[in-house]
Amino acid sequence: MRGMDRLLELQELDTSIDRIEHRRAQLETGEELSAARKGLEEAESQLGELRLASDAVDASSRRLENEIDSLGAKLVAEEKRMYDGTIVNVKELEALQHEIASLKERRARAEDELLEQMERREDMDPRAAQAAKEVDAARARAEEVGGDAIRELDEIAAGLEAKRAEREALGEAFDEELLELYDDLRPQKHGVAAAAIVDGVCQACHEKLSAVELDKLKHTEGVKRCEYCRRIVVFD
Ligand SMILES: [Zn+2]
Repeated sequence: MRGMDRLLELQELDTSIDRIEHRRAQLETGEELSAARKGLEEAESQLGELRLASDAVDASSRRLENEIDSLGAKLVAEEKRMYDGTIVNVKELEALQHEIASLKERRARAEDELLEQMERREDMDPRAAQAAKEVDAARARAEEVGGDAIRELDEIAAGLEAKRAEREALGEAFDEELLELYDDLRPQKHGVAAAAIVDGVCQACHEKLSAVELDKLKHTEGVKRCEYCRRIVVFD
């Protein structure tokens, strides 16, 4: 039967076409690109959160600075009143002393809080810088994947055209009957319709054929089939 000797060549070509088509489908659904975009979104949202948190720290620091300034101004005024001799009443003086002490306490507390906010801010700066770097890297990656996908799709289109032309030409080498059987079997057998028998083992289903079966196959004229998977087999 014409073409038996080129059956494995045909199978190899079809398998490589299948592989390229699978890769094209993968690229067209944009799995890699959408993963890269998701990575970018995550990095951006992390950076956004850090920026919001550091804005909140800044606002709180500004509020504390204002509070410290106004407490300081009040203290200066009260201390002036304390010593300028306008108040002579002892109870009033005592009340003023309490007021001054309480202002000092409030100022000290605000200063401690401000220090804490400054420390938090110092802690955040390198994290924000790191997050900004991650955003840049993720953006570059998404752009690269997008560009690569387009280039690869172009290459695939050219490669497929060449391989299909090769396939058509190779088809001429086969008996119509054999090619029909092969084409019918491929979709039923996960794309593999023909396999070699090596050391009595079918290379598609990996079953070892019995000696009797092997002997029978060797003496079969025309199409030989694996007794287990029913694929067309060729002796190596
Ligand atoms: Zn088999």
